[in-house]
This record gives sequence, structure tokens and C-alpha cells, in this order.
Amino acid sequence: MLKVKKMTALKFVDAHVHLSDEEYEGKIEDIVLDAKKSNVVALVSNSMNLKTSIKSLELAEHHAGLVYAALGIHPWNVNTLTDEELQQTTELILKHKQNKAVVAIGEVGLDYKYEKIWDKQMSVFDEMLHLAEKLDLPVIIHSRGTTARIVEMLPSYSLRRVLLHWFSNPISALSKAVEHGYYISEGPPSAYSNGIREVIRKVPITNLLTETDGPVRYFKGPFNGKMTTPAFLPTVVNAVAEVKNIDVSVVAEQICRNFEAFFGVKV
Ligand SMILES: [Zn+2]
Repeated sequence: MLKVKKMTALKFVDAHVHLSDEEYEGKIEDIVLDAKKSNVVALVSNSMNLKTSIKSLELAEHHAGLVYAALGIHPWNVNTLTDEELQQTTELILKHKQNKAVVAIGEVGLDYKYEKIWDKQMSVFDEMLHLAEKLDLPVIIHSRGTTARIVEMLPSYSLRRVLLHWFSNPISALSKAVEHGYYISEGPPSAYSNGIREVIRKVPITNLLTETDGPVRYFKGPFNGKMTTPAFLPTVVNAVAEVKNIDVSVVAEQICRNFEAFFGVKV
């Protein structure tokens, strides 16, 4: 009983979720309500393309103070990206540079599975990183199979705040990322994946954020078969506390502080 009581007093943050995904359409009000009930105090709606960037922005303005927007082009969408859409996305980001609802460029990055369009991926990523530089915005990075490469290339940009979301490997890139002051975020696999738990063990708590990456569906363990929402976060934070062997209230508090430092918002 005591533990449950304590948990309700804690605050949670989701640094990486796709509220703008069409799978959540018609469910946002319930998700937001559930998030609030679970003491989730801030979440960053990431975007995949122009359409979801507009949607993330709308959601952040509608749920000001709880939902924030990250705008950008995901590597999975680079293949179908037209010059016009890239330009319009860039313009959208520039137009909202003073908008407090916009807290980051994301989700952007490189994905090894799409190596056939490597040059285009690279040029879109480069454009997004230049935007982040120019606007001094944090950047949220997808780096499946490309983490080591990305960690090597980032120092050539002047980026003050970098988040490697769902960092999984290699561990050698983790120490380099931490040396550069980058953050990493981990989500539901914290509760059941040995690989992710190893990353959590190694990363300093001051460089760690929590996420859900919803609506990603295939989470296992306690999340099996459930729709992914920010209401998963108390379980994620508990798992982090268990792995790090630190009191859950200390972990929750530190992660909120990290979120504030990274995104520049009060939670
Ligand atoms: Zn994502």
C-alpha cells in the first residue's frame, strides 16, 4: 500500500511519443486524461513528416503545458519525400521558432534498413541538424543500426542538446555519447529487455530520459497486448529504479529535472 501511495506522488515525463500518429486518432482525449491520472506531467509529440508535424503542433497548442511538439522528417519517410514537402516542413519549423509549444526537432536520423536511399537520408538529416543548430533547438534522433556513425558525425555540428532515443547498442557509442553530454531515452523494454537494462545500468542517471515511443505495439512483459500510451511511464520508471538500485522517487525526480534541462520547459 505504501508503495502505491508513494507512486501517485511522483511525476513522469515522456520524451518521445507519436501522439500525431493516425493510430491514435479519436483516442487523444482519453490518452491525455489517462496520462494525467498517471501523473504524466509532460510529453513530447514527435513527428514523421509534414502532416504529423502540423498535427503535433496542433496537439501541443490544444494541450498547452502538457503536450509539446517536436517537428521534423523521419528517415522512414525520406523515400517518398518531395522537395516541396521538405521545404514546407522547414518553413513550418522556421515559422514557429518563437512558439513555446515547439521544443525540439524530431524525429530525425538515419536507419540502416533504408541504405538504398542513404544519400537522401543523409541530406535530409543534415538539413534537420542545421535547422536545430540555427534555432538552437534540441534534436531527437532515430539511429537504428547507425548509432556509432551518428555519434561520430554529430560533433561537426554545433548542437547543444542531443537525444538518442531508444538507445540499444553499441555500448562503446554510449560512453562517447555521454562524454559529449548527449541524453538517451529508454521506454517499455526497460522492464524486460536485458540489452536495454544493460544500457540503463551504464548510462549516468543525469543523461537519461524516459519515453514510450507509442503507438509502437509490440512491447512485451507487463505491456503485452496493451495499446502503448504515456500511462506506461510509472512502470518504466520503476524498472529504471530497480536496474539502477536507486529509490524510485529519486529516479522520477531526476528524470523530470533532465527533461527540464533538455527541453527548456518547466514540469
Ligand atoms: Zn519514434
